[in-house]
Amino acid sequence: MTKKRIIALIITIIFVLAALPSLISLANALKREQAYQFIVDGEKWFTVSDQNALVKILREYQKEYLNSIDENAQIKKIAFLQEIEIVEVEVRPEEIDSLEVAKEKIYAIEEDLVEIEIKSGDNFWNLSKANNLTVAELEILNPAIDPDKIFPGDKLVVKPLNPVLDVIIELENTVVEPIPFKVEYKKNNNLYKNQKRIIKEGIEGQKEVIYHISLLNGYQSSLNVKNEVTLKEPVQAIVQIGTKTTVSRGGRINYGVVSGKRISSYYGYRIHPITGQRRFHDGIDIAATHGNRVYAYTDGRVVEAGWNGGYGNCILVDHGNGLKTRYAHLSRIYVRVGQRVKTGERIGAVGSTGNSTGPHLHFEVIKNGRTKNPLNYI
Ligand SMILES: [Zn+2]
Repeated sequence: MTKKRIIALIITIIFVLAALPSLISLANALKREQAYQFIVDGEKWFTVSDQNALVKILREYQKEYLNSIDENAQIKKIAFLQEIEIVEVEVRPEEIDSLEVAKEKIYAIEEDLVEIEIKSGDNFWNLSKANNLTVAELEILNPAIDPDKIFPGDKLVVKPLNPVLDVIIELENTVVEPIPFKVEYKKNNNLYKNQKRIIKEGIEGQKEVIYHISLLNGYQSSLNVKNEVTLKEPVQAIVQIGTKTTVSRGGRINYGVVSGKRISSYYGYRIHPITGQRRFHDGIDIAATHGNRVYAYTDGRVVEAGWNGGYGNCILVDHGNGLKTRYAHLSRIYVRVGQRVKTGERIGAVGSTGNSTGPHLHFEVIKNGRTKNPLNYI
């Protein structure tokens, strides 16, 4: 090797050594790590290194919306409303977000839940109107609340929580429901006007109903009956009546105690198809025009007349022989405690006071301290 060549080699080595730090940083800059981008409707939200951890966070987030669902229900689908993609990418280490950042973005809320507190005198009907909702919408927002049993201090959701990432759930639930029995009326000329005699008590039937329900962020967005099977046929009641007819007249039905449109809620147990909660309805609700007259079921003495919590304006009449009848949600009361009333005498007017979902008469029959199915009595 010549001297010249040695010098040239030394110079080259010096140059290479001088350039080394910048070569290392260039290599670093080109270094890529495998990571996972979370994309929502085509928009990149964040990048994480652990795909399994990301999937776990997403599953846990979705699961929170399963909390209030009946444990017997079959979950058919759980998904996001938005289009979600997890894409494998190669990024520089500093481009990777922590799982905390990912969690924060997944759990982000667009609009918070709005609740109101029930005050004395409030009812479901007026509250829904005041919040620009229908009664049905207010019921959907509060599946765990029985509109018949709300009290001052209870909270009602009037606007649902609106998350950034929406969760859709589809479920099927099978519940057993009662089938109301029909009442056959037979005229009897020997009975006085408005008098009734039960010849045969009706018995409710039973059916198994399969509901297909869709939820958006935990709230019902659709509910359909998928199948219905009768388990037990109802047994028709037979009631003898005096001269007063109890059949439909001009679109209105005379139920004896009130002239109404239809029975909007029957007596007995109901199972909420989403929450699986059991509720008991102590009477029947007869939907009727506000102000319609309410009549005494039969002769008796008024034992309660006035405001009674969820019943609103309410009358209780004692007919003797262990029989009492209750008339609730009245707009007006025309009788006083202790007053004797006759069969068919006007005692009040239909209203929507107390916990009521609209103008109706809640009519209850109490025999020896226990409620009975009023369909056997009207
Ligand atoms: Zn009722």
